[in-house]
Amino acid sequence: MIPPIARRFVAGESVPSALDHARAANEDGVAVILNLLGEHYDDPGDARADTDAYLQLLDDIADSGLDACVSVKPSQIGMDVSPDLFAEHYREIVARADELDAFVWCDMEDADTTDDTLDAFESIAADYPWSVGQCIQSNLRRTADDLDRLVDVPGKIRLVKGAYDEPSSIAYTDKARVDEAYRDDLRLLFERRDRGIAVGSHDPEMISLADRLAREHGADYEVQMLMGVREDAQRDLAAQGIDVYQYAPYGDKWLSYFYRRVRERKENLTFAARAVLGQ
Ligand code: FAD
Repeated sequence: MIPPIARRFVAGESVPSALDHARAANEDGVAVILNLLGEHYDDPGDARADTDAYLQLLDDIADSGLDACVSVKPSQIGMDVSPDLFAEHYREIVARADELDAFVWCDMEDADTTDDTLDAFESIAADYPWSVGQCIQSNLRRTADDLDRLVDVPGKIRLVKGAYDEPSSIAYTDKARVDEAYRDDLRLLFERRDRGIAVGSHDPEMISLADRLAREHGADYEVQMLMGVREDAQRDLAAQGIDVYQYAPYGDKWLSYFYRRVRERKENLTFAARAVLGQ
């Protein structure tokens, strides 16, 4: 069972608890992106099992009528077995989503997987333009070129700063430089697209910039934040009429995800402790 201290960041261990969480978020005007926790499977059976779990989850979401979609990790659905297996599973999940009028995001993992992930996305988005979106990381030096290539590809793009430690030969490692790259990437996206832009950040400065750029260019965008992080802001933005999606992980592999959130920002631990102590 998930202890109260972790419940702030994880929507339960089971699909019903994840759907209950989505229902509550929807009542606050916030849509949900469900992610089954799991990554780095080198056994094809594990990758197949989670692919099947996502296919079932898409059916469950469709039956529930909730405003929810899913996000998969490449290494969860086969990348560590082979890029081909990953691409096959990614396509299968998006094809099911397309049948159900649902939506699939693909997270971006470490830089060794960027090429294979983007190649799969480009090919799948050409066939299912309304059902798929890909995460892109601004900390990578290559991202300006990737965006240039992908900006005209259908499908959505979620721009994040990047969560993986990469060497300075391929990534910006200074936070101010990453922020500058993020601003530049946002500008490029809003200049060249009028839809399908997702701002995956909790940073008030980046969200304000996106809002200004959207007005300037008459473009649609959405804001995506993690469950348990700035949830008041999520509700406030939704109340202002902005499309807000909360990324909510669930499943029994919650422990390492919870530690990551706590390591990221110490105040998360304070919030979590307060939740436990009921203060
Ligand atoms: P930061 O640069 O960390 O902080 C900037 C400001 O934001 C802070 O000064 C503060 O005002 C506010 N803020 C940030 N965090 C908090 C907090 N915990 N509590 C209160 N205020 C806070 N990374 C990947 O590499 N691949 C992915 O697929 C991926 N998917 C993601 C999906 C979503 C929906 C989100 C939100 C993030 C995802 N990330 C992913 C993580 C991302 O790359 C960043 O590591 C993470 O979002 C931190 O950067 P930031 O822009 O939110 O803010």
